[in-house]
Amino acid sequence: MGLLDGKKGVIFGVANDRSIAWAIARKLRGEGADLAFTYLGDAMEKRVRPLAESLGSEIILPCDVTIDAEMDAVFEVLGEEWGGLDILVHSLAFANKEELKGDFANTSREGFALAMDVSAFSLVALSQRARPLMQGREDGASIMAMTYYGAEKVVKNYNVMGVAKAALEASVTYLAEDLGKENIRVNSISPGPIKTLAAMGISDFKAMLDEVSGRAPLRRNATQDDVAGTAVYLASSLSSGVTGENIYVDCGYNILGIS
Ligand code: NAD
Repeated sequence: MGLLDGKKGVIFGVANDRSIAWAIARKLRGEGADLAFTYLGDAMEKRVRPLAESLGSEIILPCDVTIDAEMDAVFEVLGEEWGGLDILVHSLAFANKEELKGDFANTSREGFALAMDVSAFSLVALSQRARPLMQGREDGASIMAMTYYGAEKVVKNYNVMGVAKAALEASVTYLAEDLGKENIRVNSISPGPIKTLAAMGISDFKAMLDEVSGRAPLRRNATQDDVAGTAVYLASSLSSGVTGENIYVDCGYNILGIS
């Protein structure tokens, strides 16, 4: 008996076995959920397909969130194969590497628009398409997105991604209000820094890891598995009364002032 027996979930954002989305997928599957996966382009398919198949998944589709037709196709297949959807995990973001160092004030128009489109608007675009499939589910449905503390406070080098995450977090609250009427919950998880492919794009990322492991109340960095545990809670009926929230999985770092 798993917490998610009989539930159907789609995972956006696996790049490799270090991805936060992959740890989430493993734990959701461990609780009994059937999962579909998407990947970004042919290069990612080689990595994502075997991972997805190792969890017994049969729905593995391309999806670049800047392309409407690819998003449409994913939800068309989910509708045909499953007829409904209980869980959507949004664990993706992108900004050009040159925007993730130096002064935020130097952000380009193109770099700003790209980071916003991929990292924030995509949650709105995916939720729009998931909504009809998520209506009338037995325990309600759950959408979750990964954000970061740099949305709220200035984090060196996080720059335009912090602004995109602020838009993502605001989108979570507006979506939570719209979709709440249909018993669809929308929340975000705010992990501390974790060494992944996306994180390697942030200049001097190691300094972020060292700062958190040295100062956070738990005196360590959060792991992908820490995040995945919270994702199971948000995906399951354990969080039936929770929507529009942002849950930190950062070993307590966000509570600190001067130490
Ligand atoms: P990751 O590199 O494993 O995952 C990022 C994913 O984004 C990849 O799968 C990539 O394919 C996908 N992606 C990028 N552009 C895309 C596009 N146009 N269309 C579809 N997918 C696209 O890194 P991760 O650290 O697991 O990142 C997952 C999420 O967690 C991101 O939202 C990230 O901002 C967030 N997050 C990460 C950390 C950290 O320190 N690693 C901390 C807080 C939040």
